[in-house]
Amino acid sequence: MNDERRALYLERFIHAAIYEARPDIVSVVHAHAEDTLPFGIATATKLRPVIHSGSFIGPYVPVWDISDKFGGDTNVLVTNMDQGRDLAKCLSRNAVVLMRGHGFASASRSLIEAVRLAVYLPRNARALLRAKILGGNIAYLSQGEIDARNRGYSPYSTETWRAWEYWANKAGVGDLLTRPDGEGGHPHDHEHSHSRQ
Ligand SMILES: [Zn+2]
Repeated sequence: MNDERRALYLERFIHAAIYEARPDIVSVVHAHAEDTLPFGIATATKLRPVIHSGSFIGPYVPVWDISDKFGGDTNVLVTNMDQGRDLAKCLSRNAVVLMRGHGFASASRSLIEAVRLAVYLPRNARALLRAKILGGNIAYLSQGEIDARNRGYSPYSTETWRAWEYWANKAGVGDLLTRPDGEGGHPHDHEHSHSRQ
């Protein structure tokens, strides 16, 4: 990321505009994940959930094209609040917005969900891209399947917490993990978290 000083510096417009528009969220991720880029460029193929863990990107992922409102002479980055607000408007109530020729921005209700989305959005995109190469019809997850997945989600379920531990350990900060007591999950989860201390 060191070679992207300018983009990192400019990120404040993306984050500020999304937080302004979405008081319901606590985390914004903006990244240039390579696997998501084709779907912001070849927009005839919609980036939608095709794998179980991709359900969290939501049933609809809009594509924001900076040139729609700001013309064909921008540097394709978000360089002011006008552009940030237009991006946030395109994101609307969705979890993710693709940014044509640039990357994506996402809005999440918790840090766990933000990290999960940052991991599974590119994975879902890779699976879809490879399926397109195989050809034929794409079997997207149905709205019912997406809803069933999201209904089953709990921030402190065994499944969620295992992934959280894995990502934290992989990032070298596993020793910083703390887990609030009495936040759902079942007794087995609880024992598990205590046995680690
Ligand atoms: Zn960027």
